[in-house]
Amino acid sequence: MKIQTTRSSMPDFEEYIAMIKPLWESRHLTNMGQYHERLEEMLKGYLEVPNASLMVNGHMALELTIQAMNFPAGSEVITTPFTFVSTTHAIVRNGLQPVFCDVKEGNYTIDESKIEDLITEKTVAILPVHIYGHICSVDKIQEIAYKYGLKVIYDAAHAFGERYKGVGVGNFGNASIFSFHATKVFHTIEGGISCFQERELYETLYNLKNFGIRSEELTVSIGANAKMDEFHAAMGICNLKHIDDEIKKRKRIFEAYHGLLGEEKGICLLPYEKDLVPNYAYCPALLTGSYDRDKVYEVLRAHDVYPRKYFYPLTADMACFKNKYKQQPLEVARECSAKVLCFPIYPDLPLGEVERICHIIKETKNGRQGVAAKTDN
Ligand SMILES: *Cc1c(COP(=O)(O)O)cnc(C)c1O
Repeated sequence: MKIQTTRSSMPDFEEYIAMIKPLWESRHLTNMGQYHERLEEMLKGYLEVPNASLMVNGHMALELTIQAMNFPAGSEVITTPFTFVSTTHAIVRNGLQPVFCDVKEGNYTIDESKIEDLITEKTVAILPVHIYGHICSVDKIQEIAYKYGLKVIYDAAHAFGERYKGVGVGNFGNASIFSFHATKVFHTIEGGISCFQERELYETLYNLKNFGIRSEELTVSIGANAKMDEFHAAMGICNLKHIDDEIKKRKRIFEAYHGLLGEEKGICLLPYEKDLVPNYAYCPALLTGSYDRDKVYEVLRAHDVYPRKYFYPLTADMACFKNKYKQQPLEVARECSAKVLCFPIYPDLPLGEVERICHIIKETKNGRQGVAAKTDN
């Protein structure tokens, strides 16, 4: 059996079928139907946020949330290059300039002590990422934002359901977006949501996700199409019922890795931040010393285990962004990107498989096992 880094959670087949059956009667398949409304409300409750707008995917949630803030063209947004490319795309596709800030050794999030150096009169916002569900220094980032009059938009794609100091993580900054892609902790196959503090943004985002159409003959603004349809919303309603169990199962896997590899020199598994209730979305490790990231990657693949080099390369180094935007030396980010590997973690990954994976990893040390070991199992 191939073991991928993630495997989508699914509700019972019958549960989903029962959910979508009424759609054959109603024929109300999209355009803010019942399930869209119900899921949006359920998620506001689960995430404990005051306002939220459901979207077709996480990327559009981010892109439209930035657009809704109406920044002058060419403005600068301070962000992290250690992320999925969507974060940087969303800035550039809005006609804004990403300015790449380094990350912290401690948890891979934006290094808040390096943000102020990058602020110019063109800076309008900070766009940090709660990478792997590790929480950014939200208090310090907010302080900087107040001091310079900047907006803060969090890419919280990895942080679904997390709580920090007793608060749902979607409450930090001016807005936070979550992704409900099939590979994420909670999913709607494809989907996402924007959560925000300012109530007026709801109308703006509604217009942006539905062509600016308010009624049959009234189109008030220019908008895209980024609505979630009823089948995806139905999947979300089913999956949300099981999310707490799914996160509990992830916790067991996460702890198994930490138990088996935590003491191993050269394998650095970072603990979550104090005061964070995590979602165990990923199990990243920095491989150093006698462990070589690329070798561990190859050897695991030879055993039909497919870890991922999330996030390599840095977005700042990708062909479409390289040498185009202002950046710091990015020493820590580059180091993390070169050494990190994300191990498989999903709710129904058997603990026996985690043991086998950890055994294979340990065997790679000092060249004890090469790619040639393919036929071993
Ligand atoms: C998944 C992800 C996104 C985009 O989400 P989609 O739902 O796939 O569009 C954005 N940012 C990060 C960090 C992600 O991991």
